[in-house]
Amino acid sequence: MDDQLAISVRGLRKAYGGNVAVAGLDLAVRRGEVFALLGPNGAGKTTTVEILEGYRQRDAGEVSVLGSDPARTEPSWRSRVGIVLQGTGEFDELTVAEVVGHFAGFYPDADDPAKVIERVGLGAKARARTHTLSGGQKRRLDVALGIIGRPELLFLDEPTTGFDPEARREFWELIRDLAAAGTTIVLTTHYLDEAEALADRVGVIAGGRLVEVAPPDRLGNRQEALATVSWRTPEGGVETAESATPTALVAELATRYGGEVPGLTVTRPTLEDVYLKMIGHR
Ligand code: ATP
Repeated sequence: MDDQLAISVRGLRKAYGGNVAVAGLDLAVRRGEVFALLGPNGAGKTTTVEILEGYRQRDAGEVSVLGSDPARTEPSWRSRVGIVLQGTGEFDELTVAEVVGHFAGFYPDADDPAKVIERVGLGAKARARTHTLSGGQKRRLDVALGIIGRPELLFLDEPTTGFDPEARREFWELIRDLAAAGTTIVLTTHYLDEAEALADRVGVIAGGRLVEVAPPDRLGNRQEALATVSWRTPEGGVETAESATPTALVAELATRYGGEVPGLTVTRPTLEDVYLKMIGHR
C-alpha cells in the first residue's frame, strides 16, 4: 500500500438486499488532502464513508484507511480517525464543556477542550446545556467532538447543513486551519461552493461509482469549456456567442463599439453546471 495515501479503495461493493448502493468504487485520498465527495441523494456517499470509518461491512473490495482495513482495526486506529456524523449534538443536561471534556477522555493525546470549544466558535456557550443550543451550534459541537482527539484523518458528513452564511465561512476557516496543520479531510456535501472553496480534489459519485475525480476548477474539463460572451446590441437586444478565444472576441467587440461594450459578460460553466451534466441531470 502506498504510504502517501490516507485512503485507498479498490472495487468496493455494497448491496442492501437487491439494492446495489456501491457498485465497484475506486478511490485514493492522499495524506494531507481535503477531498470532497459530491453526489445526488442515494448515490452511495454515506455508505462508502461509513465503510471507510469501519461502521459498515462491505460485500467486496479492498479498503485501506491509514494503513489498516477498517473492518479489522485496533482501538489505536480509531483514535487516529475523527468522525463528524450528520447531527448528533445533543447530550441532555450536560454542558458543552462537560461533553467535550468527557470525549477528550477517550483519546490518548486529546486536545485541550477549552481550546477546541473556542476554535469551533462555541466559547460563549461553553457552560450552556447542549439541549439549549441552536441547530448550527449543535453542528459545531459535533465538529468539536470530531477533532478533540487530534485526528490524522477527519470525516465530515454534510458538515455545514443548517449553518448560517457567517457560520459556514467560520467553519471553512476551521477546515483550512486543520488542513494546514496536516489533517487529511474527507467531507461529503451537497454545496458545490463548499467543495470549490475547500477541496483540493472533488470526487463525484453517481450510481454507486466514482464517475470523476479532479480539482474543482478542472472537473468536467471546465477549464477547456467554451466561454459564453454576451453583450447588448444597439437595437436593445442581447447577443450571445460561444468562444474558445473570448479575449479576441471582446477585443473585436471593443473595436466595433469604439470602446466600452454595453452589458458585456464573459462566463464559463460553473461547477454546478458541470456537476449536473455529469450526474445526468437535464
Ligand atoms: P444522501 O445524499 O441522500 O445522504 P448518499 O449518497 O449518502 O445519499 P447512501 O445513504 O449511501 O447515499 O444510500 C445509497 C443507497 O443505499 C440508497 O438507495 C439507499 O436507499 C440505500 N441504503 C442506504 N443505507 C441503507 C440501509 N441501512 N438499508 C437499506 N438500504 C440502504
